[in-house]
Amino acid sequence: MNNNHLFKKTQLSLTCWYASIFSGIIALGTLGVYESIVHAHYVTINNELKTVAGTFHDTLEPLLIEPNKLDKTIKNILPDLCLVKEKCKEKYHKNRYITRLIQQGKYYFKFYDLSGNLLGNAGINIDKLYFIYLENELKNIKDSQQINYRQLSVLLHTKDNQEWGYLLIGRSLEDFDNYVNNIKWFLLLGLPLLIILVILASWYLAKKAMLPVYKSYQQIQQFSSDVAHELRTPLAAIKATIDSVILAEKLSIKDYQEILLTINRQNQRIINLVNDLLTLSRLDAINENKHIIEKTDINLLDLIHDLTEELAFLAVENNIKLQQNIQSQEIIIIRGNEAQIYRLLSNLVVNAIQNTPEHGLVTILLSVNKKEVVIKIIDTGIGISEEDKPLIFNRFYRVDKSRNHHQGNSGLGLAIVNSIVLFHNGRIELKSKINQGSIFSVYLPKS
Ligand code: ADP
Repeated sequence: MNNNHLFKKTQLSLTCWYASIFSGIIALGTLGVYESIVHAHYVTINNELKTVAGTFHDTLEPLLIEPNKLDKTIKNILPDLCLVKEKCKEKYHKNRYITRLIQQGKYYFKFYDLSGNLLGNAGINIDKLYFIYLENELKNIKDSQQINYRQLSVLLHTKDNQEWGYLLIGRSLEDFDNYVNNIKWFLLLGLPLLIILVILASWYLAKKAMLPVYKSYQQIQQFSSDVAHELRTPLAAIKATIDSVILAEKLSIKDYQEILLTINRQNQRIINLVNDLLTLSRLDAINENKHIIEKTDINLLDLIHDLTEELAFLAVENNIKLQQNIQSQEIIIIRGNEAQIYRLLSNLVVNAIQNTPEHGLVTILLSVNKKEVVIKIIDTGIGISEEDKPLIFNRFYRVDKSRNHHQGNSGLGLAIVNSIVLFHNGRIELKSKINQGSIFSVYLPKS
C-alpha cells in the first residue's frame, strides 16, 4: 500500500482529518478540565471567605458600641489588630483558627469608618488598597507585587443596630494561583504530547481503514489482468489462424473447414469465459441483495438424476464410471434457485470427471442430517495438494495451468460454485489426497 501514490495520499488526508478532529476534541476537553478546576477552586475560596466574614460579622457586632470608633476590646478577637495611630508589636495568640489563618499569611482585615477612613488592620500587609465598598460582593484585587487577593466587604453595625463602618476581608490567592499555574503548564506541555500520540494513532487507524479498500482494489486489478490474460490467448489464436489464411495461396474446402473449426473452438472459449464472468458478476450482485432472485422448492433426487443423465456422455467419453449413491428413503427438498443448484453440481461433477484418470469412479452421494442436506462429489482422481486447497476457490486459479487451459476451462468453475453455495446459506468442504482422489461436500439447509 505504501508504494501506491493514491492510497498513500488518501491515508495522509484521512490521518489529517482524524488528527484534527481528535486534537480539537482533546483541546476542548483540556480547556474544560482547566476551567472546571479553576471554577471549583474559586467556589471553595469564596465559601471559605464568606464563612470567615460571617463568623467575624457575628462576633464583632456585639462589641461595637459607637459608630466609626474601633475599640481595643476587638483585640480579644483579632489579637494582631493594629489601630491606625498605634505602634504595633507582632503578638499572636496561638491555637485560634483565625490567628492561624493570619499567621499562614493568607488573610487581611481592614476596618474603615463610614467615610472610608482606615481605622485599623490585621493580618497580612497589603499595599495599594483603596477603600471601595461593594455590598457583600466578592472581587479580585492585585498588590504592587502582582499578588492576587479575593476580597469581600461587609457593612458592620453597632450593638444597637446603628451603622458602624466597614470591614474588608481579603484572602491571598498566591497558593491558588501557583496551583492553577502548575496545572496550566502541565496541560500546556501535555497537550502537544497528546496531539503527537493522536497523530500516530490516526496514521495507524487510517492505515487499518484503508487496508480492506486496498485489498479489494488489488483484487479488482488482479481480476482485470486475469480477464485480459484469459481473453488474449483465444484472440491471439483466432488472429494467427486468420493471418495464416490470408497468407496461404491455395486452400481446399477441407482446409477451410478445419480453419473455421479452430476459430469456432477459440470463439467458444471466449463465449464460455464471458458467460462465466457474467454468471459470477450476477451472483456477486445477488449475494449482496439476497431477495432479488426467485427461490423454489427443489427435489434434489430429480435434479441429480437429470444431471447424471446429462453428464453420462462426458463420463463415457473420458472412460469414467459415473454413479449415484442416494442414502435417504425420503424425498429431499431444498429451497433455492434450481438453475443455480444444477450449475453448482454440474461444475463439481465435470471437474471430477476431468480430473480423474481413465477407468476411475465419480460418485454423487446424497444424504441428510438433522439440519442439512449433504451432497458429496467423490472421485478417485488426481487429487489436490495441501498448498492448492486454500486457493482452489479463487477466481482464475488453476492447479495445472497448461492442462486446464488446453481443455478450455476458464478457471472460474469453483468460484461460481462457492458463490452459489453462499447464496443458499450453505457451505462447502474439500478433502483430497494427491493421486487418491477428492471429496467436495456441499451442505445446504433443509427446506
Ligand atoms: P476450471 O474451470 O479451470 O476447471 P475450477 O475453478 O473449476 O477451474 O477449478 C480450479 C482448479 O481446481 C482447476 O485447476 C482444476 O484442475 C482443479 N480441480 C477442480 N476439481 C478438481 C478435482 N475434483 N480433482 C482435482 N483437481 C480439481
